[in-house]
Amino acid sequence: MHIKEIEFINFKSFGKKVKIPFFEGFTTISGPNGSGKSNIIDGVLFVLGLSSSRTMRAEKLTDLIYNGDSSRKPDFAQVTIKFDNTDRTMPIASDEISITRKIRETDSGYYSYFYFNGKAVSLTDVHNHLAKAGVTPEGYNVVMQGDVTRIINMTPVERRKIIDEIAGVAEFDSKKDRALNE
Ligand code: ATP
Ligand code: MG
Repeated sequence: MHIKEIEFINFKSFGKKVKIPFFEGFTTISGPNGSGKSNIIDGVLFVLGLSSSRTMRAEKLTDLIYNGDSSRKPDFAQVTIKFDNTDRTMPIASDEISITRKIRETDSGYYSYFYFNGKAVSLTDVHNHLAKAGVTPEGYNVVMQGDVTRIINMTPVERRKIIDEIAGVAEFDSKKDRALNE
């Protein structure tokens, strides 16, 4: 499974509708400082609901809405990721899977919506689907700037914990601990 395309509408520096293609294997993005490269990764964290453990470099969610044009202030931001699922990594009978997240700002606060293949779902639903493909908020699917030096500076025991997370062992360790404590 791999990301085929990400579409941004009013997300951070993407004031227009912008579609970015991704390829199987390896895609690099280059551009001048401040041109929005990291905002693309922030978009991935946003739409997959992985932001609880990683920062999207915004104080509040509504700061993610495009604010670069004083004459046009949109009240929503939306990001969609299209995955290629031809290898059925996600056990769903669909070659393409789309996940969308939209936040809408109103006078009484903001609202967050998730869609899975066009159907409104909850964040838990999104997490459950992604978990089947080995993508979890606690996981290391997204390696952020700074993570590499942090991992290098860890003690061997701390590094071992990451390997346990990636291998999926940590989940069973914590389940075992819970069971033994009951
Ligand atoms: P670097 O090479 O320095 O890491 P980068 O390409 O990763 O740069 P980003 O950090 O992705 O750049 O983009 C930063 C830009 O995004 C800044 O110019 C900032 O003003 C803009 N930006 C962030 N949030 C918003 C927003 N809500 N509306 C408009 N622009 C925004
Ligand atoms: Mg950057």
